[in-house]
Formats: sequence, structure tokens, C-alpha cells
Amino acid sequence: MRERFWEKYTLEELTDDEWEALCDGCGQCCLLKFHDDDTNELAVLNVACRLLDTHSCQCSDYENRFDTVPDCTQLTPALVREFNWLPATCGYRRVAEGRKLAGWHPLLSNDAERVHRKGISVRGFAVSELDVPERDYDEHIIAVLPIG
Ligand code: SF4
Ligand code: SF4
Repeated sequence: MRERFWEKYTLEELTDDEWEALCDGCGQCCLLKFHDDDTNELAVLNVACRLLDTHSCQCSDYENRFDTVPDCTQLTPALVREFNWLPATCGYRRVAEGRKLAGWHPLLSNDAERVHRKGISVRGFAVSELDVPERDYDEHIIAVLPIG
């Protein structure tokens, strides 16, 4: 990876390795979300995708994830700019907006645990969709965000 690539290149210019390293591992994009067509709002649940390890906040089968979760979205530079629901802390969103990475980001801290200790990640509050019946989803809404 090129030295401090996140400060020198656009999202489009990153290598595959650099792109992957820009993720801070928060797991927030792996929480279930439901779009309300009437209000154009997005409900975010504390319920995580079935493949998310809710402790490490990593996908438990990243290489083959589309086999199990066909609607998992591969982020691209264009989608990073489109998804205004990505958390303000997200490494991709920061670079897309010309902001610096936070000091706790693994690329700066060399410590993959800091994102958890700082309370940025979903560790501690996310539950797996495997453990929550769909009828209870309403009770798990933690945010309602306007879209667009
Ligand atoms: S929200 Fe951004 S930084 Fe966090 S896991 Fe998703 S892609 Fe990575
Ligand atoms: S399949 Fe993996 S990367 Fe995709 S939403 Fe689920 S946990 Fe996240």
C-alpha cells in the first residue's frame, strides 16, 4: 500500500488492498435497514446481517458473502457518495468528503481494537438477525434517517 494513500488519492484511484484497508471495521453498514417508500426514510436496526460476527464486527465469510447474502452491497466510490446513511465516521465517507481519517482508524493507530474501544463499532449493541424473529424488528429500530 502506498504511504498515506488516503490523503493523496481519490477513492477511484485506490488499489484493491488500499480500498479494503480504508474500512475501519465498525460493522455499521452491516446493520439491517428498511426503506419506507411513503416517507423516503430509512429505518436502521440494531440487528446485524446473519454473516456479521457481532464481536469482531467482521463479515464471517467475506469472500463468499454473496452466496449467502445476495443483497449484500459491494461498496464502490459512486455508492459511497450515494449512501448518505453511511456513518459520518466511515473511512470511505471521510475520504469521499475530503476529511481526514480519525486517529483511532486502524491505518493510523495500527490497532484494530480502537474502533471498538471508542464506541464507534456495533460491538456491544448489535444482535444477529439469526437471533431476532422478524416480527420483533420494530422493537429494534435505533435510528430513522431521511434519504436523499
Ligand atoms: S461503515 Fe464504512 S468503515 Fe464501517 S464497516 Fe462499513 S464500510 Fe467499513
Ligand atoms: S454479507 Fe458480510 S459484508 Fe455483507 S452485510 Fe453481511 S456481514 Fe456485512
